[in-house]
Amino acid sequence: MNSKRILVTGAAGFLGSHLCDALLDAGNSVIGVDNLSTGNAANLAHRQNEPRFDFTEIDICQPFDVGEVDFVFNFASPASPVDYARLGVETLLVGSAGTINTLEVAKKYQAGYLHASTSECYGDPEVHPQPETYWGNVNPVGPRSVYDEAKRFSEAAVMAYHRYHHVNTHLVRIFNTYGPRLQINDGRVISNLMTQALRGEPLTVYGDGTQTRSFCYVSDLIAGILALADSNEHLPVNIGNPDEWTILSCAEEILKLIGSDKKIVFKPLPQDDPTRRRPDISKAIRLLGWTPKIQLRQGLEMSLGYFRANAEIGLVQNS
Ligand code: NAD
Ligand code: UDP
Repeated sequence: MNSKRILVTGAAGFLGSHLCDALLDAGNSVIGVDNLSTGNAANLAHRQNEPRFDFTEIDICQPFDVGEVDFVFNFASPASPVDYARLGVETLLVGSAGTINTLEVAKKYQAGYLHASTSECYGDPEVHPQPETYWGNVNPVGPRSVYDEAKRFSEAAVMAYHRYHHVNTHLVRIFNTYGPRLQINDGRVISNLMTQALRGEPLTVYGDGTQTRSFCYVSDLIAGILALADSNEHLPVNIGNPDEWTILSCAEEILKLIGSDKKIVFKPLPQDDPTRRRPDISKAIRLLGWTPKIQLRQGLEMSLGYFRANAEIGLVQNS
C-alpha cells in the first residue's frame, strides 16, 4: 500500500501509532483519529511536522467524515482488561456504533477496510491452538464480555457490510502484542512485569501463573496486518506469534533479562481469565506468506529502552 489516503482510528494508541508510522514510511497520507481515552498523543509527537500526517481528536461513536479515503484501519477500542473494565459501556459502544460509523466511511468512499479484532473472540478456548474456524467459548455476561462481545459484534458488522454493501473488508484477530509504546499503566502483563522489574519491585503473577499467552512483537504484527490489508481475504485471519509461555515463565524470563533478584508475588486470578491462548497461524502462512520473526527474549530486549525511560509512571493492577 503506497500513495493512498488512509484513515486510522485509534491512531494515538500502541498499535495505531505503529501502524501510522508504517503507512507513512511506505509513502501514504494518513489521517489519524482518536479520542485519547486510553491512547497518548505523545505516541504521535514525532509525526507532528509530517505534511502527509494529520491528527484529529474524534470520538468514532458519533458519525464522522474526514473526506475521501482509500482505506480505513479501525483500531479504536480500549484493549487492556484494566481499561475495558473501567470503560465498560464505552467499549461496547466503540465496538458497535463506532465500528458501524467507520464502515459507513468505507462504504461512502468505496474504500478498503480492516478491523482490529482479537483472540478474545475465542474466550477461554476449549480448542488449542485456536484456528479461525473455532467459534469460541465466551461468557456473554462476565466482566470481560464488554470487550469480547463488542468485538464479536464488530466482526458480524464487518461481514455484513461486506455481504450487503460489498465493502472490501478484512478482519485480523490479533493475539497478545507488545513492544515500545505499550501503555505503561494499562495493566497488561508485559508492561506490568517489565516496569516492576525495572523499578526493583516484586513481579505480580495472577493465579498460579500456569495460564498461557503467546506474545507477538509489534513490528511482526504490523507486517502481518499490512499483508492482510493487501489480500483478497474477507474472513478472519489470526496474526500472532505461536511461541506459547506460561505467565510464570514469562515473569522469570523478564527477571533474567533485567537481572533483578526481586521475587514474584502471586495475586488472585481475575474472573474468566483465559487459561491458555496460542494462535494457529497456518492460514496467515498460507494466504499471506507471513510468519513472525522476533521471539520473546529479543523483543523484550528491543523494548527495554522504552520501558526504562517510562518505568516511573504509576502502575495499575487488575486485582
Ligand atoms: P490502545 O488502548 O493503546 O489503543 C486504542 C486507541 O483507541 C487509544 O488511543 C484510544 O484512545 C482509542 N479509542 C478508544 N475509544 C475510542 C473512540 N470511541 N473514538 C476514538 N478513539 C478511541 O490499545 P492497542 O493495544 O493499541 O489496541 C488497538 C486495537 O487492537 C484495539 O482495537 C484492540 O482491541 C486491538 N487488539 C490489540 C491487542 C494487543 O495485544 N495490543 C490484541 C488484540 C486486539
Ligand atoms: N497478568 C499477570 N500479572 C499482571 C498482569 C496480567 O499475571 O500484572 C496475567 C493475566 O491474568 C493474564 C495474562 O497475564 O492471565 C495476560 O494478561 P493481559 O492483561 O496482558 O492480557 P489478556 O491476554 O488477559 O487480555
